[in-house]
Amino acid sequence: MTGLKHIISEFAKNKGVDLIGFGSIQRFNDLPALQNPLTILPEAKTVIALGFRVLRGMFRGVEEGTTYYQYTTMAVEMLEEVFIPNVLLEICSKIEDSGFTAVPQKRFQLLMNETDETNPEMDYVRIYRNTKNVQLDFNKTAVACGIGEIGKSGSVLTDDFGPFQRFCFIITDAEIEEDPVAEKHLCDNCGKCRQACPGKALGEEKDGKYILNTWQCAAYTQGANITKNPFLKPDALMDIPDRLKVLYGEKQLTPLEAKAVMDRLLFYPSFRHGYAVSICGRACDRACYIHLEERNVLKRKFHNKFREGQDWVLE
Ligand code: SF4
Ligand code: SF4
Repeated sequence: MTGLKHIISEFAKNKGVDLIGFGSIQRFNDLPALQNPLTILPEAKTVIALGFRVLRGMFRGVEEGTTYYQYTTMAVEMLEEVFIPNVLLEICSKIEDSGFTAVPQKRFQLLMNETDETNPEMDYVRIYRNTKNVQLDFNKTAVACGIGEIGKSGSVLTDDFGPFQRFCFIITDAEIEEDPVAEKHLCDNCGKCRQACPGKALGEEKDGKYILNTWQCAAYTQGANITKNPFLKPDALMDIPDRLKVLYGEKQLTPLEAKAVMDRLLFYPSFRHGYAVSICGRACDRACYIHLEERNVLKRKFHNKFREGQDWVLE
C-alpha cells in the first residue's frame, strides 16, 4: 500500500469507518455528467468510498414488531446527517493536510433530478425534483471503488455486512493506487429480497436487478401493509379505492395513489431532516442478510442468528 493510501486508510479506520475502497477516475469515464465525479472536480484522479455499518441491533425493534423509531433515527438520520458528515470532514482535512484537494460527497436525500420519482426514505412532500443537481450514483460508485457488488435488490452487498451499510465519498486530485472491483459472488439470485417486500415494490428484472417502483416502495416503507404494521387500525384507509388490496400489498399504486396513502400513514413525530419513518424496516435487505448468513458467506460472525424461526405476520 502506498504512503498516502495507508495514511488515509488507517486514519479512516480510527475515526469509525468500517469499509474503504479506492477507484481511479478512469473507472467513471462513461458516466453521465450529472453523476460524474469529473463534473465536480475536473482534475480528479481518485474517488474514495467510505462505508459505515448499519448495526444489526438497529433492526431489532422492526424484527420484533415493537419499536420503529430507532431504525430511522439512529441507522438512517443519525448516520447520514451527523456521524458520516463528521468523519467525512475529518478525513478530507487529513487529505488536504497532505496538499491535495478533497471534495466530500454526502447523500443529499431531498434533491432529485427525476421529475416524477420519489426517494422512499424521505417524506415525498419535502423532495425537490428536477433539480439538475450533480450527485454521484452512490451504489455504482461504491462498486467502482471495490467495496462490494450490487445485489438483485439494488442494494450494495459486502462481505462484512451484507446489505447493511451506508456510504459517502471523497473525490480527490491525489493519484492513489486503486482497489480491484469485486467479482460478483454474494448475490445468488435467490429472490428472497423480492418476496419479502410487503408491497411488491420490486418488479421485473432488468440488467441483473429488480426494477424498483419508488412510489410503491415509499408507501410500503411507511407501513401501508396492515399485516406488517401494528399501528394500522382495522378501519385504516377507509376512503382509499381498493383499500383491501392496498392494505394487503396487492395493488400497484400510481404516484397520486401512493401520495394519498402516505398522507394517511403518520405514526411518529416528523424527522428534522425530512426522513420518513421506515415501518417495513428494509424487509428486502433483512431477508437478504438472513439468506447470506444462512449460506455462511459473511465474514463477521455472531453468536446468535439474526432471526430465529419465521418472520411475524399480523392477522
Ligand atoms: S436476497 Fe437473494 S436475490 Fe436478493 S440481493 Fe440478496 S442474494 Fe441477491
Ligand atoms: S421491503 Fe421496504 S424498502 Fe424494500 S422494496 Fe419493499 S418497501 Fe421498499
